[in-house]
Amino acid sequence: MSGPHPIALTIAGSDSSGGAGIQADLKTFAAHQVYGASVIVALTAQNTKGVSAIHAVPADFVSKQIDAVFEDLDVAAVKIGMLATAELIETVAAGLRRHKARNIVLDPVMIAASGARLLENDAVDAIRRHILPLATLSTPNLPEAAALLGSSVAETEAAIDEQADRLAALGAANVLIKGGHGSGETSSDLLLLAGGARHRFDAPRIATRNTHGTGCTLSSAIASGLAKGLALPEAVGHAKTYITAAIAAADEVPVGHGHGPVHHF
Ligand code: PLP
Repeated sequence: MSGPHPIALTIAGSDSSGGAGIQADLKTFAAHQVYGASVIVALTAQNTKGVSAIHAVPADFVSKQIDAVFEDLDVAAVKIGMLATAELIETVAAGLRRHKARNIVLDPVMIAASGARLLENDAVDAIRRHILPLATLSTPNLPEAAALLGSSVAETEAAIDEQADRLAALGAANVLIKGGHGSGETSSDLLLLAGGARHRFDAPRIATRNTHGTGCTLSSAIASGLAKGLALPEAVGHAKTYITAAIAAADEVPVGHGHGPVHHF
């Protein structure tokens, strides 16, 4: 990295295999010439085949990490990933408010691609009530949007539009519903801005099983753009281009024997 670079913070879980979570976030920040700091909320023992154990960090220690970072570093953007429990969600929300954090990108992580639960069942409501209203942008995929709304998974463009409106009504400032879990030849993401404007971001759907860390990477790339001063639609557009290239390159750089990670440039 050379020249002045902004600082972004990830508040998320560690993935021991390095493909998702904190590790994907820091790689993404570095690829965007953004300095990355990290607050670790949970440890996962996992590889590309699955998650074998989760160890949540005590809430007061999460608070201490948040205070240590904000009391010294000038954090220009925050990415939030795996928060594990309702208690940790409230702890992180309080920390963000205490330090008047700006440019908060929330990836409401619930279930790993391998099927492991990364958020306790009773914690979805805490995300909805405590973190969603604090976030500048929330980036649910189709199942996460449905879980936040207590609805079934949207299958049509009209249903996705309607769910974005309902998330906005819950207090989400700007919403990006990601279409990666849908079907069809195009992966289409819908961005609903606070003023009501809608942007659609389309990319060809890439056939690969190596998509581990996709959501983490996209949200960190958006946070990187915001840290550098880009407007939200530009930050999302650049991030979509970055994640599409990272997925396309995943098969060329295989890691592990299961669902491997996307490749960072
Ligand atoms: N955070 C952690 C710690 C994880 O282990 C995972 C997935 O395994 C995720 C987040 C979400 O990953 P993805 O970006 O593939 O949705």
